Parts: sequence; structure tokens; C-alpha cells
Amino acid sequence: MNPVFATLPTTIFTVMSGLARDLGAINLGQGFPDDPGPEDVRRRAAEAVLDGDNQYPPMLGLPALRGAIAAHYRHHQALDLDPQTEVMVTSGATEALASALLSLIAPGDEVVLFAPLYDAYLPLVRQAGGVPRIVNLRPPHFGLEEEALARVFSDRTKLVVLNNPLNPSATVLSGEDLALLARFCTRHDVTAVCDEVWEHIVFDGAAHVPLMALPGMRNRTVKIGSAGKIFGLTGWKVGFVMAAPPLLRAIAGAHQFLTFTTAPCLQEAVAYGLGKSDAYFSEMRARFARSRDRLSAGLAERGFTLLQSAGTYFLNIDIAPLGFTDDVAFCDTLVRRHGVAAIPVSAFYDADPVRHVVRLCFAKSDATLDAALDRLGDAAGGTGWRAA
Ligand code: PMP
Ligand code: GLN
Repeated sequence: MNPVFATLPTTIFTVMSGLARDLGAINLGQGFPDDPGPEDVRRRAAEAVLDGDNQYPPMLGLPALRGAIAAHYRHHQALDLDPQTEVMVTSGATEALASALLSLIAPGDEVVLFAPLYDAYLPLVRQAGGVPRIVNLRPPHFGLEEEALARVFSDRTKLVVLNNPLNPSATVLSGEDLALLARFCTRHDVTAVCDEVWEHIVFDGAAHVPLMALPGMRNRTVKIGSAGKIFGLTGWKVGFVMAAPPLLRAIAGAHQFLTFTTAPCLQEAVAYGLGKSDAYFSEMRARFARSRDRLSAGLAERGFTLLQSAGTYFLNIDIAPLGFTDDVAFCDTLVRRHGVAAIPVSAFYDADPVRHVVRLCFAKSDATLDAALDRLGDAAGGTGWRAA
């Protein structure tokens, strides 16, 4: 067996969702909305199954979808992408990440990553033979620091993997941080794989800035998106990868033997959905922001200490003021005694983890959030939340 995968524990998302099911807990762990998603988009998929073509779509994706992706990013992020040579459809952002990391890393290449890191990154880098050089980002801002970048970047660095907006910290990198990273990439001739699946879920009037748009980054950035996140249909697993032609050709080489294609009915529906009005996207953001505010107000009232959530479906609580030093133990108590599943943020670190931050998903109905708040109880009022 290959130790990279055979020795891996089951992902924290699956573990916590399993516990929530077994214990009848409210699941604020794994990130997914609890509404059915946009009906018109789902209807397009259903119609495409019944009336459309269900045979193998083209390996790079349906031309209609690749065109819609290029048009979408031109409109929303002012990117100029050639749908023929710079856009590919994958089975979720996860497959886009796998195709990019397996094709762009050669054994021995150094790869810079930032923790907290999404759980797929490190095993894929290791499987490709890459040598990970991890920079730990710290709460509350989870920002980049020049000295830390200078310690890991060198002429051996081939790739950097960035997630922005960042899951699980719910932070968005500042323009200065993006510019700093771009300077390191251009100085050391490094390719950036930028996981931007949360690009549409940013709050308080912020606009997503794609790393690809920074000076010197256009032809050295691989941008990754996910229709699952854009439409709140996380089970669909339709992803996109965008990169200059030489990079995209290599990534397609891996994609053809990972999945080759993605269900055509879903591709058709996503092509339709990407053309939805600006009002649709701003209403979606406003809806998630209202849920974030509902959960944060309820938690603050009950005496929990919160970190700011600038994007994603997530809000983090700082458990240190409650006297807890172990987020895993806290989440275990939360799900078993209080009936609410959450995610310990230490699961997103490789070494020297942050252990006092716990992630909650607010992409839920008001009734679900209120029920979870009732179960969480009163941290300030001594209902069992002070560590001994
Ligand atoms: N990257 C990040 C940062 C994510 O949060 C997720 C899913 N939540 C993914 C990738 C995977 O996306 P998909 O479901 O499209 O594979
Ligand atoms: N990305 C989702 C989250 O962060 C989970 C995805 C998964 O379960 N693999 O919760």
C-alpha cells in the first residue's frame, strides 16, 4: 500500500458528520447549506438528464460551460481567459487540485503551503513527491508575514498553494498580502495554485481579488473554482481550473486519467447558473451574511468569544477564554454533551497547531441556528463551559 494514503486518518469532516448522525446532533461541522439550492439551476440539470445528451462530454468540459466560465470571470473579476485553451472543467475543486498538484510537481520540488490548510493539499503534494514547506498562519488575522515567506521561499521552490478566502479561518487576504506573495512568486519564478472556491462568499462589501490579477501572476497562476460553492450545491462536485495554456495542458494530462469528464447534465446546469444576474449573487451573499450575524449575535450574547468572519460559510470561536486548551476535546464535549457538531481548527495544521479555535458552519436555516444556540447554552453563565 502507498503510505501517503494508507496511513491517513478519515477526514475530520466525515468523522464529525458521522458523529452528528449517530448522536442526533445538529451538524455545524462539515460546510454545506441545509436548503435545497437554486431551483432553476437544479431544474436545468433535471431537464438535461431527461432531454439532453448523457454520453461522454469532451475531456476539457462542455464548450458551453467553458465559455460560461470565461464570461463569468470576465464579468465578476475582470479576468481575460480563453475558453478554448485556458479553462477546464473538473469533478469538483478537489479533482482540480489533484490534477494541478500531481501534474505540476516533480519529485523533490519544494512546495510552499499555508496552514491552516485544506485537508486535501498535503497528501496530494506528498503523493507527487513534493517537499512541503509550511508556513503557519495565526489567529486572529491569519495574515502573511514577509520574514516567514523569506524563510521558506528559495530557488528550490516550484509551487505555492494558496487558499483565499481561507477555510477554516474565514479570513480574506489583504491586497498587501496578495502583493507580497506575488513578489515572492515572481522573484523566485514560482507557480501559484490558488484555491478560490469561496470567491463569491465574501461579506461586508468586500470584492474578491484573484491572485491571477496581480502584476506578474497572469501566466504563473492556476485558479481553481467550484460550482458546489457558487450555488450552494456541494454534492455536485463540478469544479473549474483556469491557467495559461502550457500549465493547463499539463493539468489536463492528469485530469484525463483521474476522472476524464464530469456529468454533462451538471455541466449544462452550471453553464446556465454562471450567467445569473448580479442581484442573484449579491442576494446570496446577503443571505449568508444574515446567517453569520444571527449566529454571531447569539454566541456573543451567551458569552462566547468570536473571531471575525469575512467570508466562507464559517465562523470561529476562541475557546481559550473558557479555559480550554484542546479544541478536539472541546468539540468532543460539544457534540456528545451539547448535541452540536463543530470542527476543531487544529485538524488543518501539520505541526505546531493552533488549538484554541473551533469552526462552526452558519449556512443553515434560522431554526437550525437557533436550535444550535439553545443547545450551546450559556458560556458566561457557567453551564458547563468552563474547563476545570
Ligand atoms: N478547497 C476548499 C478550500 C474547500 O473548502 C473545499 C470544499 N469545501 C474544496 C476545495 C473542495 O471543493 P469541491 O467540493 O468542489 O471539490
Ligand atoms: N470543504 C468542506 C468543509 O470545509 C468539506 C468538504 C468535505 O467534506 N470533503 O467543511
